[in-house]
Amino acid sequence: MKFDVMTLFPEMVEDYFRYSIQKRAVEAGIVEVNTINPRDYAANKHRKVDDIPYGGGAGMVLMPQPYVDAYESIEKSGNSITVMLSPQGKPLTDTIVNDLTKYDQIILMCGHYEGFDERIRELIKPTEISVGDFVLTGGELPALCLIDAVSRKLEGTLGHMESAQEDSFSDGLLEYPHYTRPREFRGLEVPEVLLNGNHKEINAFRLEKSIERTKTRRPDLYEKYKKENKC
Ligand code: SAM
Repeated sequence: MKFDVMTLFPEMVEDYFRYSIQKRAVEAGIVEVNTINPRDYAANKHRKVDDIPYGGGAGMVLMPQPYVDAYESIEKSGNSITVMLSPQGKPLTDTIVNDLTKYDQIILMCGHYEGFDERIRELIKPTEISVGDFVLTGGELPALCLIDAVSRKLEGTLGHMESAQEDSFSDGLLEYPHYTRPREFRGLEVPEVLLNGNHKEINAFRLEKSIERTKTRRPDLYEKYKKENKC
Protein backbone atom coordinates (compact mmCIF):
# COMPACT_ATOMS: atom_id res chain seq x y z
CA MET A 1 0.00 0.00 0.00
CA LYS A 2 1.47 3.30 -1.08
CA PHE A 3 0.55 6.58 0.61
CA ASP A 4 1.47 9.81 -1.16
CA VAL A 5 0.98 12.69 1.24
CA MET A 6 0.77 16.23 -0.10
CA THR A 7 1.90 18.49 2.71
CA LEU A 8 3.68 21.77 3.34
CA PHE A 9 5.30 20.14 6.39
CA PRO A 10 6.77 16.80 5.22
CA GLU A 11 8.80 16.23 8.41
CA MET A 12 5.61 16.16 10.48
CA VAL A 13 4.44 13.18 8.47
CA GLU A 14 7.78 11.43 7.99
CA ASP A 15 8.64 11.50 11.70
CA TYR A 16 5.63 9.43 12.62
CA PHE A 17 7.00 6.44 10.74
CA ARG A 18 10.15 6.39 12.85
CA TYR A 19 8.31 4.74 15.74
CA SER A 20 6.68 1.53 16.87
CA ILE A 21 4.38 -0.56 14.70
CA GLN A 22 4.24 1.93 11.83
CA LYS A 23 8.04 1.96 11.60
CA ARG A 24 8.02 -1.83 11.32
CA ALA A 25 5.29 -1.71 8.66
CA VAL A 26 7.48 0.57 6.54
CA GLU A 27 10.59 -1.53 7.13
CA ALA A 28 8.70 -4.69 6.21
CA GLY A 29 7.55 -3.06 2.96
CA ILE A 30 3.86 -3.37 3.90
CA VAL A 31 3.40 0.38 3.54
CA GLU A 32 5.36 2.99 1.66
CA VAL A 33 4.95 6.64 2.63
CA ASN A 34 6.06 9.45 0.33
CA THR A 35 5.64 13.16 0.85
CA ILE A 36 5.11 15.75 -1.84
CA ASN A 37 5.52 19.41 -0.89
CA PRO A 38 3.36 21.74 -3.02
CA ARG A 39 5.83 24.51 -2.19
CA ASP A 40 8.35 22.76 -4.46
CA TYR A 41 5.90 23.29 -7.33
CA ALA A 42 5.12 26.97 -6.68
CA ALA A 43 5.71 28.85 -9.92
CA ASN A 44 6.63 32.15 -8.29
CA LYS A 45 9.84 33.74 -7.11
CA HIS A 46 9.16 33.35 -3.39
CA ARG A 47 7.68 29.82 -3.54
CA LYS A 48 4.48 31.24 -2.15
CA VAL A 49 1.64 28.76 -1.65
CA ASP A 50 -1.03 30.92 -0.02
CA ASP A 51 -2.67 34.28 -0.54
CA ILE A 52 -5.35 36.51 0.95
CA PRO A 53 -8.98 35.55 0.29
CA TYR A 54 -10.98 37.26 -2.43
CA GLY A 55 -13.91 39.01 -0.77
CA GLY A 56 -11.88 39.67 2.37
CA GLY A 57 -11.83 37.89 5.70
CA ALA A 58 -9.26 36.40 8.01
CA GLY A 59 -6.52 33.93 7.15
CA MET A 60 -4.75 32.77 4.04
CA VAL A 61 -6.04 30.47 1.32
CA LEU A 62 -3.97 27.77 -0.42
CA MET A 63 -3.38 28.80 -4.02
CA PRO A 64 -4.48 26.40 -6.76
CA GLN A 65 -1.33 26.36 -8.93
CA PRO A 66 1.16 24.74 -6.49
CA TYR A 67 -1.38 22.13 -5.34
CA VAL A 68 -2.67 21.17 -8.75
CA ASP A 69 0.82 20.98 -10.28
CA ALA A 70 2.09 18.94 -7.32
CA TYR A 71 -0.90 16.61 -7.65
CA GLU A 72 -0.34 16.12 -11.36
CA SER A 73 3.32 15.22 -10.72
CA ILE A 74 2.29 12.16 -8.68
CA GLU A 75 2.38 8.91 -10.61
CA LYS A 76 -1.04 7.25 -10.21
CA SER A 77 -1.53 3.52 -10.11
CA GLY A 78 -4.57 1.96 -11.76
CA ASN A 79 -6.15 1.46 -8.34
CA SER A 80 -5.68 4.71 -6.47
CA ILE A 81 -7.93 7.08 -4.55
CA THR A 82 -7.37 10.73 -3.72
CA VAL A 83 -8.48 11.91 -0.30
CA MET A 84 -8.65 15.50 0.84
CA LEU A 85 -8.49 15.83 4.61
CA SER A 86 -11.18 18.32 5.48
CA PRO A 87 -13.48 19.07 8.41
CA GLN A 88 -16.23 19.27 5.79
CA GLY A 89 -15.73 15.69 4.61
CA LYS A 90 -17.41 12.39 5.49
CA PRO A 91 -16.49 11.35 9.04
CA LEU A 92 -13.82 8.63 9.07
CA THR A 93 -15.20 5.32 10.34
CA ASP A 94 -14.03 1.73 10.52
CA THR A 95 -16.16 0.96 7.45
CA ILE A 96 -14.40 3.66 5.43
CA VAL A 97 -11.02 2.43 6.71
CA ASN A 98 -11.89 -1.10 5.50
CA ASP A 99 -12.92 0.27 2.09
CA LEU A 100 -9.63 2.13 1.80
CA THR A 101 -7.62 -1.07 2.29
CA LYS A 102 -8.82 -2.16 -1.17
CA TYR A 103 -6.72 0.47 -2.94
CA ASP A 104 -3.03 0.10 -3.59
CA GLN A 105 -2.35 3.84 -3.57
CA ILE A 106 -3.91 6.57 -1.42
CA ILE A 107 -3.05 10.16 -2.24
CA LEU A 108 -3.70 12.40 0.76
CA MET A 109 -4.11 16.16 0.45
CA CYS A 110 -3.35 18.05 3.65
CA GLY A 111 -4.61 21.61 3.90
CA HIS A 112 -3.43 24.40 6.16
CA TYR A 113 -4.40 27.98 7.09
CA GLU A 114 -7.99 28.69 5.94
CA GLY A 115 -7.90 25.68 3.61
CA PHE A 116 -7.94 25.10 -0.11
CA ASP A 117 -8.95 27.43 -2.94
CA GLU A 118 -12.25 25.89 -4.12
CA ARG A 119 -10.86 25.28 -7.61
CA ILE A 120 -8.46 22.69 -6.21
CA ARG A 121 -11.54 20.65 -5.26
CA GLU A 122 -13.20 21.27 -8.59
CA LEU A 123 -10.17 20.17 -10.61
CA ILE A 124 -8.98 17.20 -8.55
CA LYS A 125 -12.38 15.99 -7.30
CA PRO A 126 -11.03 14.22 -4.22
CA THR A 127 -13.04 12.22 -1.70
CA GLU A 128 -13.24 14.47 1.36
CA ILE A 129 -12.72 12.86 4.75
CA SER A 130 -12.94 14.39 8.21
CA VAL A 131 -11.60 13.01 11.48
CA GLY A 132 -14.35 14.67 13.51
CA ASP A 133 -16.46 17.72 14.06
CA PHE A 134 -13.65 19.99 15.19
CA VAL A 135 -11.08 22.05 13.34
CA LEU A 136 -7.37 21.32 13.43
CA THR A 137 -4.56 23.56 12.20
CA GLY A 138 -3.61 21.29 9.35
CA GLY A 139 -4.37 18.05 7.57
CA GLU A 140 -1.21 16.24 8.74
CA LEU A 141 -2.67 14.74 11.93
CA PRO A 142 -5.84 13.61 10.12
CA ALA A 143 -3.70 12.08 7.35
CA LEU A 144 -1.63 10.21 9.93
CA CYS A 145 -4.80 8.96 11.64
CA LEU A 146 -6.03 7.61 8.34
CA ILE A 147 -2.72 5.99 7.35
CA ASP A 148 -2.33 4.41 10.78
CA ALA A 149 -5.88 3.06 10.82
CA VAL A 150 -5.59 1.64 7.29
CA SER A 151 -2.16 0.10 7.76
CA ARG A 152 -3.26 -1.70 10.97
CA LYS A 153 -5.69 -3.62 8.77
CA LEU A 154 -3.05 -4.78 6.31
CA GLU A 155 -1.75 -8.25 6.75
CA GLY A 156 1.59 -8.30 8.54
CA THR A 157 1.42 -4.86 10.19
CA LEU A 158 0.32 -6.22 13.55
CA GLY A 159 2.01 -9.20 15.11
CA HIS A 160 -1.27 -11.07 15.34
CA MET A 161 -3.90 -10.48 12.70
CA GLU A 162 -6.56 -11.22 15.34
CA SER A 163 -5.68 -8.00 17.18
CA ALA A 164 -7.18 -5.90 14.39
CA GLN A 165 -10.10 -8.27 13.95
CA GLU A 166 -11.03 -7.97 17.61
CA ASP A 167 -10.53 -4.21 17.88
CA SER A 168 -13.48 -1.99 18.64
CA PHE A 169 -15.88 -1.45 15.70
CA SER A 170 -14.67 -4.43 13.65
CA ASP A 171 -17.72 -6.48 14.67
CA GLY A 172 -19.92 -3.47 15.35
CA LEU A 173 -19.12 -3.50 19.09
CA LEU A 174 -16.61 -1.82 21.39
CA GLU A 175 -13.91 -4.20 22.51
CA TYR A 176 -14.07 -6.04 25.85
CA PRO A 177 -11.83 -4.98 28.79
CA HIS A 178 -8.26 -6.27 28.94
CA TYR A 179 -6.23 -7.44 31.94
CA THR A 180 -2.58 -8.36 32.40
CA ARG A 181 -0.30 -9.19 35.35
CA PRO A 182 -0.55 -8.93 38.31
CA ARG A 183 -3.62 -10.96 39.15
CA GLU A 184 -4.51 -8.58 41.95
CA PHE A 185 -3.75 -4.84 42.00
CA ARG A 186 -4.81 -2.56 44.87
CA GLY A 187 -7.55 -4.96 45.82
CA LEU A 188 -8.85 -5.29 42.25
CA GLU A 189 -8.88 -8.87 40.93
CA VAL A 190 -8.71 -10.11 37.37
CA PRO A 191 -12.06 -11.81 36.59
CA GLU A 192 -11.79 -15.49 37.47
CA VAL A 193 -13.10 -16.67 34.11
CA LEU A 194 -9.99 -15.31 32.35
CA LEU A 195 -7.76 -17.56 34.44
CA ASN A 196 -9.40 -20.91 33.87
CA GLY A 197 -8.16 -21.57 30.31
CA ASN A 198 -11.68 -22.43 29.08
CA HIS A 199 -11.81 -20.55 25.78
CA LYS A 200 -15.49 -21.05 25.23
CA GLU A 201 -16.23 -19.41 28.58
CA ILE A 202 -13.66 -16.70 27.97
CA ASN A 203 -15.19 -15.84 24.59
CA ALA A 204 -18.69 -15.75 26.08
CA PHE A 205 -17.50 -13.46 28.91
CA ARG A 206 -15.77 -11.13 26.44
CA LEU A 207 -18.79 -10.93 24.16
CA GLU A 208 -21.03 -10.15 27.13
CA LYS A 209 -18.64 -7.36 28.26
CA SER A 210 -18.42 -5.99 24.72
CA ILE A 211 -22.19 -5.81 24.48
CA GLU A 212 -22.49 -4.25 27.94
CA ARG A 213 -19.90 -1.58 27.12
CA THR A 214 -21.37 -0.74 23.76
CA LYS A 215 -24.85 -0.47 25.24
CA THR A 216 -23.79 2.02 27.90
CA ARG A 217 -21.11 3.96 26.04
CA ARG A 218 -22.40 3.94 22.48
CA PRO A 219 -26.13 3.27 22.37
CA ASP A 220 -26.13 4.27 18.68
CA LEU A 221 -23.73 1.41 17.84
CA TYR A 222 -25.62 -0.98 20.08
CA GLU A 223 -28.94 -0.33 18.32
CA LYS A 224 -27.26 -0.97 14.95
CA TYR A 225 -25.63 -4.16 16.25
CA LYS A 226 -28.98 -5.40 17.60
CA LYS A 227 -30.67 -4.80 14.27
CA GLU A 228 -27.90 -6.47 12.26
CA ASN A 229 -27.63 -9.47 14.58
CA LYS A 230 -31.39 -9.75 15.11
CA CYS A 231 -31.07 -9.83 18.92
N1 SAM B 1 -11.54 26.97 7.21
C1 SAM B 1 -11.75 25.55 7.14
C2 SAM B 1 -13.19 25.23 7.54
O1 SAM B 1 -13.73 25.92 8.41
O2 SAM B 1 -13.76 24.24 7.00
C3 SAM B 1 -10.80 24.84 8.08
C4 SAM B 1 -9.39 24.88 7.64
S1 SAM B 1 -8.29 24.03 8.76
C5 SAM B 1 -7.77 25.33 9.81
C6 SAM B 1 -6.89 23.71 7.80
C7 SAM B 1 -6.77 22.30 7.26
O3 SAM B 1 -6.70 21.38 8.34
C8 SAM B 1 -7.90 21.81 6.40
O4 SAM B 1 -7.77 22.24 5.07
C9 SAM B 1 -7.79 20.30 6.53
O5 SAM B 1 -6.84 19.77 5.64
C10 SAM B 1 -7.26 20.14 7.96
N2 SAM B 1 -8.32 19.80 8.94
C11 SAM B 1 -8.71 20.55 9.97
N3 SAM B 1 -9.65 19.94 10.69
C12 SAM B 1 -9.86 18.74 10.13
C13 SAM B 1 -10.71 17.65 10.41
N4 SAM B 1 -11.57 17.66 11.43
N5 SAM B 1 -10.64 16.56 9.61
C14 SAM B 1 -9.80 16.52 8.56
N6 SAM B 1 -8.97 17.54 8.24
C15 SAM B 1 -9.00 18.65 9.00
